[in-house]
Amino acid sequence: MAEETMPSPLRQKPVYRFAPSPNGLLHLGHALSAFLNNDMARENGGRFLLRIEDIDQTRCTPELEQAIYDDLGWLELDFEKPVRRQSEHFDEYRAALEKLIEAGLAYPAFLSRGETKAIVRTFEAEGGLWPRDPDGPPLYPDIDRQRPQAERAALLASGRQHAWRLDMDKAIRAVGAPLFWQESGDGETGQIEALPAFWGDVVLSRSDAPSSYHLSVVLDDALQGITHVVRGMDLFHATAIHRLLQQLLDLPQPAYHHHRLILGADGRKLSKSEGSTGLSALRAEGASPSDIRRLVGLV
Ligand code: GLU
Repeated sequence: MAEETMPSPLRQKPVYRFAPSPNGLLHLGHALSAFLNNDMARENGGRFLLRIEDIDQTRCTPELEQAIYDDLGWLELDFEKPVRRQSEHFDEYRAALEKLIEAGLAYPAFLSRGETKAIVRTFEAEGGLWPRDPDGPPLYPDIDRQRPQAERAALLASGRQHAWRLDMDKAIRAVGAPLFWQESGDGETGQIEALPAFWGDVVLSRSDAPSSYHLSVVLDDALQGITHVVRGMDLFHATAIHRLLQQLLDLPQPAYHHHRLILGADGRKLSKSEGSTGLSALRAEGASPSDIRRLVGLV
């Protein structure tokens, strides 16, 4: 066999990606992620891709997407083109969702955010403690999961707005074995056991967006051949959901590196509305790309 065609995992180039959402301006936390992906790709002879995570068409705008290109260009981060934009791939996410529906692992979820909140509030007013996911929000009530098939079908036929949610218990049973991921980040490292049950019936598509972050991120990482996911520590626990979806959809698993977060003066995670740590604001104040590297603790 000619050397170029020899299938050897050793010959595979590592592939990294930076995957911001254009629903706000990039801040120092994004700069750290982007620099780390870029630098690791360089050091390991790998590729560096950019992915625009714009499934939420109500919050993402072309202006904010342009601001991402401007900020990354200014930081001299050289990603490959073309850039993958999630809004151009809704059909692929839909096809994966269909697979999960056909396997009986997803159900239509009709409760609005307000209805869910009211259920939780009533339960807690009566002294109960509603279970919450690792990020804090309450788990989705089991009303829709328990709904009889005929009622489900009637609601769907009536055109009632709905999301699709993963039946977490069934999904875990379908996989049947504990799942792990390889972690090399700034917290716990090594083989980490994925514990998706803590997230409850996660959303796979919304009534106003044809996919969810969790579903599209695992599909895109697979479709783009991502071998190393380098992102903020705030997504460490969500990796359990990603490992589960990879397993259910028969997708390869990348290695993960969750890096430290850049905190604001109040000790909290930076938010997109925080002007003073926004990259464009810092640039306007005269900061240079190497100042940004220093500000995120990379030099
Ligand atoms: N789009 C996500 C964000 O902006 C990042 C997703 C990821 O890196 O997996 O927070």
